[in-house]
Amino acid sequence: MALRVLVVEDEELIGEMVRLNLQEEGYDVVWTKDGETGGDLVSANRFDLIVLDIMLPGADGIQVARRIRKKGTGTPILMLTARSDTATKVAGFESGADDYLTKPFDMPELLARVRALIRRSQGSREIPSQAVLRFGGKTVNFETGEATTNEGPLVLSEKEKALVELFARHPGEILTRADILDEVWGMDALPTERTVDNFMLRLRKLFDDPRDPKHFHTIRGRGYRFVP
Ligand code: CA
Repeated sequence: MALRVLVVEDEELIGEMVRLNLQEEGYDVVWTKDGETGGDLVSANRFDLIVLDIMLPGADGIQVARRIRKKGTGTPILMLTARSDTATKVAGFESGADDYLTKPFDMPELLARVRALIRRSQGSREIPSQAVLRFGGKTVNFETGEATTNEGPLVLSEKEKALVELFARHPGEILTRADILDEVWGMDALPTERTVDNFMLRLRKLFDDPRDPKHFHTIRGRGYRFVP
């Protein structure tokens, strides 16, 4: 089933661009130009993500976000605004936004943030209840970071732990380097895709046979796949 995204944006050009780009990525998109209507749509429908402009006719984005959260809806909200001042950002986050994008923005950045927010919200629902991952005679404790590895017991770094956790949530799925960067490093750091490769080498050294990987597979031209 396609993921559903609600876009609340009164500017014709931006709304149309966002709608088209999201549709091309395979999302079901509902677009409204009015804040009030946006709030009504969220009450009556299930969405996986809301792209919410701040400056809107009717109710502004901050009022809409407050209304959505007050009703107990946890759908991730990506806020858009022309204003980049800290006060607006703080108000946005306080009203319940999960992430923030200042106009003008690049479409690839919007799409990356949409993907990351949806994956994060779905990941937190899918996360295995057991805190310890076991595979191929190795273990990783996601609470403490303690692991049994080819190099004996050790404590993983935050990034190493986050990376293993990401793979554990998506066993058998191909994760692209861009997906991995989004999820583990987020948008604020500036690591390159090469960073991901280096971390993968490290994971193989700790948990796999680097010459003949059984768990952390490279999928040429696409990314990596974890097989427990
Ligand atoms: Ca606007």
